[in-house]
Amino acid sequence: MRFEAFIGNRKVISRLQRKLLENRFPHGLIFTGPEGVGKHTCAVMVAKALNCTQAPPGEFCDVCTSCRKIESGTHPDVMTISVEEDATQIKIAQVRQLLTLLELQPLEGRNKVFIVDPADSLNAEAANALLKGLEEPPENSFFILITVNVHELLLTVRSRCQVYNFIPLTLDEIRRHGVTDELTIRWSQGSIGRARALDVTRLKAEREIMLDFLETVVNAKEEQFQDLLAVSAEFGKAKQDFESRVEVLAVLIADLLYFSEGTPQKVVNVDLHERLQKLAGRAFVDRLLRMAEFLRFIESSLKTHANRQMLADVLALIGNEKAAAWLP
Ligand SMILES: [Zn+2]
Repeated sequence: MRFEAFIGNRKVISRLQRKLLENRFPHGLIFTGPEGVGKHTCAVMVAKALNCTQAPPGEFCDVCTSCRKIESGTHPDVMTISVEEDATQIKIAQVRQLLTLLELQPLEGRNKVFIVDPADSLNAEAANALLKGLEEPPENSFFILITVNVHELLLTVRSRCQVYNFIPLTLDEIRRHGVTDELTIRWSQGSIGRARALDVTRLKAEREIMLDFLETVVNAKEEQFQDLLAVSAEFGKAKQDFESRVEVLAVLIADLLYFSEGTPQKVVNVDLHERLQKLAGRAFVDRLLRMAEFLRFIESSLKTHANRQMLADVLALIGNEKAAAWLP
């Protein structure tokens, strides 16, 4: 794989290639953006380009010994640090080991490359230690810090680095990765990592429960309010699935809103087109928007010990045109 074969984020790739050609490559880089869009792959490509023995500047060949060692993680001058299996954060000892290597001349290649992924897993002590390396890096040393959210990094670390923003892939770019199932492509949210990890069978099962919830909430008349409580009880009793059900419901509601605003081509759940279109015809946009808003509140309150059943009940009431009239 060469730079030209990298799918998506072409602006980032061109900017990196320009920097590589300028021969004044920045010593600190931050690759930020959603999970699963190729940040790590790109960091490895940069490490190859900085050490390739065959390709012209700004490129790499992927076949020389150096490229192959970097690909397999065995090049002595390219080091990746990440969270170890038994840990929740990157340890200070890992950063110290990196700093020791920083002092040495490259063993085999032209340049040393240190990839920290995810860099937001550095605790304050480790981040401050890393900062020492970033402040006065030797001429032939480069750092690539990878994070989903650049704002989680220390300002002092950020100020030493050039930031490269990765964006979600388009539907076509996901297809070019070889994903063929249309539902998976649309559920990927522009992340190839997410597309590859998606369990469609499980997704469909959860989606059925949440669509049942949504249909009941939209359709229930006053004499059917016990049905509202029945579907919210089903929703609320989910334990580890609760969070993913909230997400599934958010996507279903977004789909209904696409129908309402006349952009059905954006619908994610393409296999449910008719059922969703019918439901959208009966739903009140105002109620859907209030539900979407409340779902965001639920997502933020899941970090604390929220009462899930109560949240599900309130959501059901908010979504129903008649019941909502009772709410304050
Ligand atoms: Zn090479």
